[in-house]
Amino acid sequence: MMGGFFAPELKYAGYDKLIIRGKSPDLVYLWIHDDKVEIRDAAHLKGKGSLESAEMIRTELDDPKVQIASIGLAGENRVWFASIEQGRSSASRGGIGAVMGDKGLKAIAVRGTNDVNVARPAELIEMCNEVMRYIKHREENPIPGVMPILAGLGSPQEMAIHDEKWHTENFAWGNSRTRRKGFWTEEVEEEWTDTMRSMRTRLVSCHNCPMKCGATISVPGLPTYMMKCFSKLTYTMAAMSNLEFGLRIAQSATEYGVDAFTAPQVMAFALELYEAGILTDDDFPGMPSDNEERFFWLLDRIVRREGIGDLLANGTHWAAEQIGNGAQEYAHNNIKKHEQLPLKLGMLNPIYFLMYATGEKINITQIEGNYPQAPFATREEREEFCKDWVQVPDEKFKEYFLNWELRGEYSIPHYPGIEATCEIVNWQEQMHYIDDATGMCAGLSSFPLKPPYHIHNLPTFISNATGMELDEEGLTQIAKRIRNLVRAFNIRRGMRKKDEKPPADHWKRRFPDLEEELLTEYYRFKGWNEQGIPTSESLHELSLDFVADDFLERGILQDEG
Ligand code: SF4
Repeated sequence: MMGGFFAPELKYAGYDKLIIRGKSPDLVYLWIHDDKVEIRDAAHLKGKGSLESAEMIRTELDDPKVQIASIGLAGENRVWFASIEQGRSSASRGGIGAVMGDKGLKAIAVRGTNDVNVARPAELIEMCNEVMRYIKHREENPIPGVMPILAGLGSPQEMAIHDEKWHTENFAWGNSRTRRKGFWTEEVEEEWTDTMRSMRTRLVSCHNCPMKCGATISVPGLPTYMMKCFSKLTYTMAAMSNLEFGLRIAQSATEYGVDAFTAPQVMAFALELYEAGILTDDDFPGMPSDNEERFFWLLDRIVRREGIGDLLANGTHWAAEQIGNGAQEYAHNNIKKHEQLPLKLGMLNPIYFLMYATGEKINITQIEGNYPQAPFATREEREEFCKDWVQVPDEKFKEYFLNWELRGEYSIPHYPGIEATCEIVNWQEQMHYIDDATGMCAGLSSFPLKPPYHIHNLPTFISNATGMELDEEGLTQIAKRIRNLVRAFNIRRGMRKKDEKPPADHWKRRFPDLEEELLTEYYRFKGWNEQGIPTSESLHELSLDFVADDFLERGILQDEG
């Protein structure tokens, strides 16, 4: 899912989605100009950076308004964490760039000049205006008592804020192991603020959005690129370096087209294996001795799949399997074989346990969101928060939050209780699935606290835009169907309960019995069996009988009749 300008341009060209079937023997790009669709030779773009390729295509097509989604060298070489870059955004998680590379598709260029017709324009525009008023209201009234990036709307406002105390002291550095309490001193703050102010040339937003979540970054001597969200810190923290290094290497990483969560962790993992003697000098011929230079060197090897880079290009899980000799212990920050945000915490949080364990979008930010990440210190603060919390699907969520304490009987890991935890996780996840289905930015819907789009107004938005009559129940049902279809794909690929666990040492204090109970109850709540497989009965209720039939045929479900 990308923000930026690509999707609106595609809509103006007359399309909602693109499905690319098959593959090309030679490198090509797709040129969509309204009704005209061409497959063009891209031999001259081979090995070019993602942004560089976009510029070359734009020049070739002689139209500055063309929007281009392109892969870099990582996608061409099928690096398993390759991204698709679009200049003002990227689709990064899950190695989607490798899929384009495998198809021999270097880029998709689109230009649309049609009108977009909606069913009830006056009603839709009025709702949009209301959203704009609300966004302005939230801008003027940030939520107190939460970390800076959660106080406002949008994808975390990393580009606009300078206070990184929370991230740098609570998230883990290196190969996601080291927390650095007391790191954020006045000197660091001054240095990082100067770096950001001098290199962040402009705050930018996506098509028709006032939020400005991204920024153009100009590192002296390098081409300008766009950055958004937590990628600001991932390279810096993986290399135990400073912000200037992070912004510098991110320019290369964007051109190469790699995911900014996974790539830095893979490189830190490789260097940790080297320090532990599991990998040796023979695995790193010619590697520089300077720490930062090593990261640039490794990035180059990975995207070219050269030497050790060929193993690392598969991510820490698969690289560790191939390296052996205890390397698996160092690939410790994965769920379902994919690298996660570098966090190592103290006490098990039941909500996050379920989200990490059962999420299939391979990223906690794609599940969490509308419910606060932690309790507020006092009941007064919680009451204040609940006053205008209109986004809750049901008033009971306010009760859960009002009673949530930092310590004592009503604190984690036993509060919220199991049933409440299931409901909270289900609500948050459901909103993300609705966003994916509608193409809505999570930054204005499923991710922030108190967003402008929520379960009470989204059905009317959709109805006004499409003419399809939809209420909350109908939209919830659609989200459930999609959720179960996604699970069905993974179940067919072999995913079972054994795969549903958080990163190995994500929390120091674990509670196996409670975790088992949470998982069991959540499966029941979702209509899944003891292995996490949707049952025939629940699939039937969602009119997904064809999935149940497929499961029966494959022996995944047994015929109970
Ligand atoms: S809120 Fe979403 S659409 Fe708007 S600028 Fe931020 S990321 Fe883009």
